Amino acid sequence: MASREEILGAIYEAGRLHQQYDSVARAARGEGRVDVFGMLVDRDIPVLFRPLKNLLGAYINDPDQGVMVTTKLGLPVQRFTAAHELGHAALGHEASLDDQEILERPIFATETNGDPREDQANAFAAELLTPDWLIVHHMKQQGWSRDSFSDPAVVYQLALRMGSSYLATCYALAQCDGIDRLTRDKLLKVKVKSIKESLAKPYAPADWRRDVWLVTECDDGMVLEGSRSDLVILKFREHAGSGYAWQFGDLADAGLEIVKDGRSPVASDQHIGAVVFRTILAKAEDGATGYVNLREMRPWQMKGKPLHSFDFNVDLSGPVTDGLHPSQREAALLEVA
Ligand SMILES: [Zn+2]
Repeated sequence: MASREEILGAIYEAGRLHQQYDSVARAARGEGRVDVFGMLVDRDIPVLFRPLKNLLGAYINDPDQGVMVTTKLGLPVQRFTAAHELGHAALGHEASLDDQEILERPIFATETNGDPREDQANAFAAELLTPDWLIVHHMKQQGWSRDSFSDPAVVYQLALRMGSSYLATCYALAQCDGIDRLTRDKLLKVKVKSIKESLAKPYAPADWRRDVWLVTECDDGMVLEGSRSDLVILKFREHAGSGYAWQFGDLADAGLEIVKDGRSPVASDQHIGAVVFRTILAKAEDGATGYVNLREMRPWQMKGKPLHSFDFNVDLSGPVTDGLHPSQREAALLEVA
C-alpha cells in the first residue's frame, strides 16, 4: 500500500503534466476530456493496442519505453489504462503488467499487500482524467450545481464529456466532495443501461453497448469524442413562432444519420408555440468524424445570417483498434516512405 506522501507525489506529477500540456486552456477551447493518448504520443512513447486477454495494459521500459492497451474493452477503459501506464512512465517506475484487479483498486486502499506503485499509478490516472478543475469546468459550462449530481443522468453526461466511465466519475465526484457518500452509493446502484434507455426512448438500437450523448446549446464548440456506434441527441430551443428552424443537414457529412426528429413545448414559453424544443436523435452506424456547423434559419432566407448557430467537432471513432495509436501509425508510415 502506498503512503500518503507517495499518493500525493503521484497527484502532483499529474498536475505538472496538466501544466505542461496546457490542459486548462484546452478544456476552455472545447476539449472536455484530457487527451491522454496525445500526451503519450507527445512524449514519444509508442502506444500499442492489442487484444490482450488477461491484462488491460502494460508498461515496458527495457530497453525503450512503451505502453500496451487492450482492444477488448471500451474507450473509457482504454483511456484509464493508458493514463495508468503513463503514470508508471512519469513516476519512473519499473515495467508493469496490469490486470483488471490492479486498475480497479481504490486509491486509498486499506489492505497492505498491494504494490504501492500500482496505487500511485491509479492516483496519477484519476488526477489526470478526472481532476477537480475539470469537473468544475463542466459544471460551469452546463449550469450544473452540486445538487445536479444526485441525478444519475447528469453524472452520466459528465462522464461522457470527461471520457471516463460512469463508475470512475461517481468516485471522482465523491473524492472532490462534489457528492457525499450516500449519494455516491445511490448512484453506483443505478444501471447505466437504464439511463441510456430513458434518454433515447422510444428509439431502441440493437444493443446498448453504445453511449447516448445529450447535446444542448451549452455544448457549443465542444469536441465530442466517443465510440463508433454512439447515439447523439441534439436538443435546441427553436424560434418556431418567428419561422426559424434548425437545419441539421450537415450532420450527414460527418457520418451522423437522423433517426428521430421532433418538437416539444418549452414550459417557460410566454407565447405558446413561439419557442419550442427541437430534438433530434442521430446515430453513427460505423463511426462519425468531422466539424459540424448547425444553423437556425428561416427556410426562405437560407443565405441570410442565422439567428443562432452551433459548432462542434465530432470524433466517434473509439475504441482504438489493433495496432499503434493512429497518429503513430501515420508517423511510422511516413518514415518508411
Ligand atoms: Zn500498473
